[in-house]
Amino acid sequence: MPYFVYGSIEVICWPMFSGKTEELILRVRRAQIARQKIQIFKPAIDTRYDEVAVVSHSSQSVQSEPVANSIDVLLNLKDSTRVVAIDEIQFFDNGIVEVVDKLARRGFRVICAGLDLDYKAIPFGPMPQLLAIADEVTKINAICTICGAPATRSQRISQSQEQVLLGETDSYEARCRGHYEYEEDSKAHLPLEEEVRPILDN
Ligand code: ADP
Ligand code: MG
Repeated sequence: MPYFVYGSIEVICWPMFSGKTEELILRVRRAQIARQKIQIFKPAIDTRYDEVAVVSHSSQSVQSEPVANSIDVLLNLKDSTRVVAIDEIQFFDNGIVEVVDKLARRGFRVICAGLDLDYKAIPFGPMPQLLAIADEVTKINAICTICGAPATRSQRISQSQEQVLLGETDSYEARCRGHYEYEEDSKAHLPLEEEVRPILDN
């Protein structure tokens, strides 16, 4: 793991069950062993396992501070904090990009974990910008539940059409590119020339 003296942005991403939260907890624990003052934030909407703690699918956990929006990360910072970790960062408003950038410029080490793609395989919220400004990006595979290959997609197996559906193995499965099934409208967000779309869809 490189060590940036003047602040840094680390982004850990890829699909559900890939181990993003485990990796975040590992980095948090190592920072704590180094006696660096660390604060861990998560979006208040993520109450899957616990109101306060960040919990992985393998039941590892670390205490965190749930916040309602990006500005609350800044407002809740303590003077002594040197490292800021944020889990499920894809759920934040776009302001989180500037908040993370500002923290890094002020000398903080910022560790972010989040889904880069939503269940339609569309880039999720602020993730594209966060990935672009990161000093270091770690993409971790999950395991495809169909064939055991490396999985890079989160397949929704329940019927809901909401972008945000908190859920577990009852709602999502990790899938490889070959076994991921696209929703019909999953490419509708791409701003393509009208004449290009039929060629691509062919
Ligand atoms: P994420 O935060 O990326 O959703 P977690 O860190 O919470 O992932 O959980 C990762 C753990 O989930 C793995 O170490 C493993 O124990 C478990 N797991 C369950 N299903 C899968 C899967 N399909 N592929 C990989 N790990 C899985
Ligand atoms: Mg997680």
